[in-house]
Amino acid sequence: MTQDTRTTLRTPIVAVLGHVDHGKTSLLDKIRGSAVSEGEAGAITQHIGATDIPLETISTMAGELVDPDDFDLPGLLFIDTPGHHSFSTLRARGGALADIAVLVVDVNDGFQPQTEEAIDILRRTGTPFVVAANKADTTPGWNPQEGEPIQRSLAAQSDRAESMLNENLYEIIGQLSDVGFSADLYWRVQDFQKNIGVVPVSAMTAEGIPDLLTVLMGLSQRFMREEMAIDVHGPGEGTVLEVKDERGFGATVDAVIYDGVLRNGDTVVIGGQNEPIVTEVRALLRPRPLAEIRTEKKFEKVAEVTAAAGVKIAAPDLDDAMAGAPIRVVRDRPVEDVVAEVKAELAEIEVETAEDGVVVKADTLGSLEAMADALRESEVPIMRAEVGDIAPRDVAIAETANQQEHKAILGFNVDVLANAKRELETADVTLYSNDVIYQLIENYETFVEERKRAQQETVLDKVVRPSRFRLLLDHTFRQNNPAVVGVEVISGTLQNNRNVGYFEGNEFERVGSLSGIQKQGEDVDEARAGERVSIAIDGPTIGRDIEEGDTLWTEVPEKHAKILEQELREQITADEREALAAYLDTRRKRDPFWGK
Ligand code: GDP
Repeated sequence: MTQDTRTTLRTPIVAVLGHVDHGKTSLLDKIRGSAVSEGEAGAITQHIGATDIPLETISTMAGELVDPDDFDLPGLLFIDTPGHHSFSTLRARGGALADIAVLVVDVNDGFQPQTEEAIDILRRTGTPFVVAANKADTTPGWNPQEGEPIQRSLAAQSDRAESMLNENLYEIIGQLSDVGFSADLYWRVQDFQKNIGVVPVSAMTAEGIPDLLTVLMGLSQRFMREEMAIDVHGPGEGTVLEVKDERGFGATVDAVIYDGVLRNGDTVVIGGQNEPIVTEVRALLRPRPLAEIRTEKKFEKVAEVTAAAGVKIAAPDLDDAMAGAPIRVVRDRPVEDVVAEVKAELAEIEVETAEDGVVVKADTLGSLEAMADALRESEVPIMRAEVGDIAPRDVAIAETANQQEHKAILGFNVDVLANAKRELETADVTLYSNDVIYQLIENYETFVEERKRAQQETVLDKVVRPSRFRLLLDHTFRQNNPAVVGVEVISGTLQNNRNVGYFEGNEFERVGSLSGIQKQGEDVDEARAGERVSIAIDGPTIGRDIEEGDTLWTEVPEKHAKILEQELREQITADEREALAAYLDTRRKRDPFWGK
């Protein structure tokens, strides 16, 4: 395969995702460790935030599985920070930074919530992936075959162990199919564009790791070769992984460069908290090779890096740089164009904010965007969304929210600065922080619901309850001043100190107000449907204004009727709802908009 002298094929970028504890970190460590022990001295280039496994190393590890002549891609670059949180943070030109992904699933545990989340993200970003069915070595009776390809390892297992493993693998294949991916054990997959390959592996014994690397290499070579062609002289493009203070350098950014070349002295534009930062690279740093680890300095300077590469950039004015933001080299083009490009890319991520809402802080742009998406789905408005730790200013802003439930800060993977902590102690603002987005939002929603319930309870305490009741025959104990009479509550709740009256046609006639309720000789505050009590009414005279046998109603003020109907319907009893409905019905015959 010939290449233009200006172009070269870059290393595909690989991300590792999966549920917590399913073995992402262990798998990466094992791949790295195996690569270091298998690789020729010096073959492994040290990267910042990523591990480069060259094709030769992969082919040594994979033995008969890989013939290096079949490949012209230089190897694989694994991003060191696993998890779909970092995956969604790592973007390139609006898409995913990683070209390909490994979804780690514990063979015993199968699909878990974060597995599903990861799949959603992979689907949304259209990232090809393979499934590493990890912890194969925990199959009962497993006979470990350190570092072997999985077929060889399977040949050394008892029938029983093999069939137990298979059972778990088919469970995972079934779960993949449930979420719309047709999958099979990787050696049965004919077309990796149509089917997801499942590779049984162990991050403990390295069994299956040769297979995993082979499948990743094969997938990239077959389906991504074209996209891997880069201009070796082109202006470098990359993504900020992390902003870090480094002794002797001040604020630096760790970045992955996915296109072109980045040289020491280049002018670069980097997405910042406020405006894009335009600065000049003072140093490009990489970890020292393992052999030189004893030297004082952690890093060595390099003159340039060509994609794909992980590198630390030292330059002035990087304090405001944001994790997840784009980096662009300004070379042979006007700086304004590059600034505009960076702005446009950041605008894509910009979160829609409302006049009133919560304050959201997240560690990276990608996670901020994920938070915003999740909050939009939950219909929680956002007043302000920013990357960074929680500062006093955030507390002050949260306090300005109009609705009480919006006086909240939702912090994802961020710290609270000491002075902000002090402010929070006195401010009327609640802080929610968590490292798992859905839990964070769930916690907030629980709080809002509890608050709402508490509020409804206080309103319910104050609101006038509807009731309909009948004066019993032969139960007038006193004619007037006040009238004392036995009644039966037909529906609703008859409360003391309420105005009562009757309907004359559709017109409500108030006759007086209750000044006492007695049940079997005891004073009570209210009587429920079905109860017989005697009541004292100030105002009417029995036999003149009202008669025994008459039906009376509690007079529900229009505002209360509205709250009852619109907000507290679920909180009141069925017979109260019935009394309310009948009351409103009659009121509305005269005025259709009464209580609306
Ligand atoms: P992560 O949260 O996905 O990064 O998971 P870790 O890599 O931290 O692994 C979680 C636990 O599972 C650790 O105790 C690991 O030692 C263990 N573990 C990971 N992979 C394997 C494996 O292949 N076999 C066995 N037996 N244990 C494993």
